[in-house]
Parts: sequence; structure tokens; C-alpha cells
Amino acid sequence: MKTLNVDVAVIGAGTAGLAAYRAARARSAQAVIIEAGPHGTTCARVGCMPSKLLIAAAEAAHAIDHAAAFGVRVDGATRIDGREVMDRVRRERDRFVGFVVRGVEGIAAEDRVEGRARFLDRNTLDVGGHTRIAARSVVIATGSRPAVPQFLTAAGDRLVVNDDVFAWETLPRSVAVFGPGVIGLELGQALARLGVRVVVLGRGGRVGPLTDPVVREAAVKAFSAEVYLDADADVRRVARVPAGVEVEYRRVDGTVATETFDYLLAATGRRPNVDGLGLESLGLERDAQGVPRFDPRTLRVADTDLFIAGDAANDIPLLHEAADEGRIAGDNAALLPAVAPGHRRAPLAVVFTDPQIAIVGGGYEKLVPGSFEAGEVSFEDQGRARVMLRNRGHLRAYADRATGRFLGAEMAGPAAEHIGHLLAWALANRMTVASMLEMPFYHPVVEEGLRTALRDLHARLNAAQRAAA
Ligand SMILES: Cc1cc2nc3c(=O)[nH]c(=O)nc-3n(C[C@H](O)[C@H](O)[C@H](O)COP(=O)(O)OP(=O)(O)OC[C@H]3O[C@@H](n4cnc5c(N)ncnc54)[C@H](O)[C@@H]3O)c2cc1C
Repeated sequence: MKTLNVDVAVIGAGTAGLAAYRAARARSAQAVIIEAGPHGTTCARVGCMPSKLLIAAAEAAHAIDHAAAFGVRVDGATRIDGREVMDRVRRERDRFVGFVVRGVEGIAAEDRVEGRARFLDRNTLDVGGHTRIAARSVVIATGSRPAVPQFLTAAGDRLVVNDDVFAWETLPRSVAVFGPGVIGLELGQALARLGVRVVVLGRGGRVGPLTDPVVREAAVKAFSAEVYLDADADVRRVARVPAGVEVEYRRVDGTVATETFDYLLAATGRRPNVDGLGLESLGLERDAQGVPRFDPRTLRVADTDLFIAGDAANDIPLLHEAADEGRIAGDNAALLPAVAPGHRRAPLAVVFTDPQIAIVGGGYEKLVPGSFEAGEVSFEDQGRARVMLRNRGHLRAYADRATGRFLGAEMAGPAAEHIGHLLAWALANRMTVASMLEMPFYHPVVEEGLRTALRDLHARLNAAQRAAA
């Protein structure tokens, strides 16, 4: 058994873990990074990057399918070569993974430990039974994995998760996607646009991260125009049959359908990888998912020598947040006991569907009823969106009734990835709606739709203030 004594031990070499390790090293701490699986990060291997590669192929197919609406005729049938599509996805994905792996290889060999880490006590880790690490502080950056409800396991060997999709050598003919969250919507729509027969079935009515019912309704309308989507489906049966997976469900029109699919894709949420770490024996207060209580500003677990970052923390499971959290946790783990709050950014989430979804701020659901006003715009008649035939979706922006300060927005619509950034910057700069309207708006751009919503919001704020006077 090898024994190491270090200042900081980081568990997990994903985005959060690598950021934590680098931050700790930058503080001159003696640090090690432990990885149980293949290097390359979830984002590059089976997350952000391969999903966007699949979506890029789907966008190409969709543009051809819809060219006729502009009077542009593509003669002959479009042929989607599933092997070529998946080959490019995997080839480019491997390129991105390669960059990460090369970065890991640049870390001093003595700082890298391969194997599964488990706590023996708060300051001691066993790694794979071959190494014992005594650390002044430990950063838990173990990521998350797909959470699959028991009833879907009836699909047997035809049950797949996002990791499996990116390993496909060709496209299947049909997929039943369970879960219209971010991953289910992105993959479901992309597969449908690539000619795969897709249904997307959810439970509870949620669509992506949207919490504003008006925006959600517009999103469902837009998505349903090309993919069968029921966000609150009544699924009666899932069974492995010789031809694939049989799914019996009540359709939105009330009829009961029994359909067979090649695969059932479970996109039913993710579970933080905090089980199997031995946390239960450390005397920590933990939530229902087993995540120890921590301070999101310092990433410190209560007043212990432990820190938690990235998807493992199960707070904001997004790439840029994992990187920030890793950096803050690594800094603080090195500086312990001089722990300080790190910089947290204005919340921003984007879903790369069409229409795209963006949420800025904590979302509609978290606003205090009666304390805010909402302004809105439908993109159905928005000039530039219509020019591009992308006139679908809705945006609602929120502001504090008393001060006029912008609080956030939810949108499903064209260019949401860009509008989301604009709005997140406005939120970070604590702008009022009046000051946002003083900013330039070019013509003709989709952002003019945003201006319409802000003008509406401004008028409502003024009306509310007049009523209160
Ligand atoms: C399909 C999909 C699409 C996504 N798209 C986006 C997107 O467009 N934009 C965005 O911002 N985010 C996206 N995300 C989310 C983003 O990928 C994650 O938030 C981010 O990768 C989390 O990084 P992490 O460092 O926390 O975890 P990971 O990168 O998963 O790293 C955790 C590491 O810990 C290791 N590990 C676990 N347990 C142990 C142990 N006991 N001992 C040693 N090592 C261990 C694991 O092997 C893993 O390598 C997507 C995710 C998915 C699945």
C-alpha cells in the first residue's frame, strides 16, 4: 500500500476537479487528483460537446428539409447517412476529449492517482485499495450519472442513456425518449431531425428548465410541431419485445397507443455521485440525495475540511458553474482555514433545442409573488424571426416592482443563447429596465423582440408605481 501526505486531495478529474486541482496548485499547495474512470470529462466525452455535435448535424438536415419554404428547392430526397453522422460526432468528440487528456497528461505524474477513492475518515482516503492518502483538505468533485427509474429497466438491453447514444455507430430507426428535460429535449429533437422516429414522454409537466407557464406553453407548442411530446404522459407499460421496446401510453388525444421502438432513452435526470464515497460514516448532515450540506459561496461542507464542487454538489449542474465551483473549492481547500466566498456569476442556463431555451436569474418559480412585474413578447410576429422563418416561442422578463431592477427572464425562442448572455450581463450589472432600454438595439435583429418585452415591462412597472402612489 502506497501512502501519500498532501495538503489537498481532489476526487474526480472532471471539469470541477481539474479546476480545483489547478487552483490548489496555484496557491502552492501540494495537491493530488484522483480519477476512477477514463479521463476526458463528462462534458467532452458524453455531455455538452457530443450533444452539440449531434444537434449540428440535425440542424443541417433541418435546413435542407425547410429550404423549400424559402423557394429553395433541393431536388431528390435528402439522405441522412447515420454512419457518417455518428462518425463525425465521435471523431470530433474524440478531438475535444484529446485536448482534455493532454491537459491531464501535463499534470505531474506523482500528482495523479488512478482508482476509486473512498473516505476512511474526513482526512484519509483509500484509493482502489492500493494507495492511502492523508490530506489536510479534500475536494469532492465526483460528478453525476443518469438516474433511471426502476420501471424503465423493463426495456432490458434496449434501455440506453446519453453515454450510449454517443457510442452508436449509426442512427437507430426509432427511440422513445423518457424525460423532456434538457438532455431529453436536445437529443430527442436532434434524433427526430435526423430522421429517427421519436416520441418524448415526461411526467409532471416540466419542459427543460422552464418554470414560467406562459413560456412553457409556447415551448411545448413549438416542439410539438415536429416531435410528439407529452410532458405529463400516462405510460402504462414498458416491455422488452423481440423487435425492441414496446411502450403503451395514452396519447394527448386520449387514444391509447402501443408502439415499438429500437431503444428507450432514459433522460430522467441525474444523480450526484456521492454514494460509494463512504460519506455516511463521516457524521455529516446530508440531503435526500446524500449530498452533504455546504455553503455555495465557499463550497465548504459545514465547518469541516471538506469541499464539494460541480455536479456532485447537485446545485447548478452546468459546465461553467462546475469550473467556477472547482476553482473556488480548490482555492479554499488550499487556504483552509482562511476560507473566503468566491465569485459566483449571474445564473444563466441555455438549452440547444430549436427554439432554444434560456433562463437568466433564478427563474420565474423562485420570484416572490407580488414583488415583481413581468413583460413579454411572442416571437410569432417578431420581424427578424419571421424573416428567418424562426418565428416561434415567447420571452418573459421580470423586474422588481419597487426598484425597477431587472431580475431575470425565461425564454424559448430564436437566438436564446445570445439573448440569454445579454440578459445575464444586465443582471450581473444590476441594471434597471429603464437603463437596459437605454442600450442600443440594431435593426432588424431578434433582440428587438427583447426590447418589446422590456418596453412592456417598463410600462407595467410605471403603472404599478402610479397605482401605489
Ligand atoms: C448530455 C449532456 C449534455 C450537457 N450539455 C451541457 C451544456 O450544453 N452546457 C453545460 O453547461 N452543461 C452541460 N452538461 C452538464 C455538464 O456536462 C456538467 O455539468 C459537467 O460536466 C460536470 O462536471 P463535473 O466536473 O462536476 O463532473 P465530471 O466531468 O463528470 O467529473 C467527475 C469525475 O469524477 C470521477 N469520479 C467519480 N467518483 C469517483 C471516485 N469515487 N473516485 C475517483 N473518481 C471518481 C468520474 O469518473 C468523473 O471523471 C451536459 C451534461 C450532459 C450529460
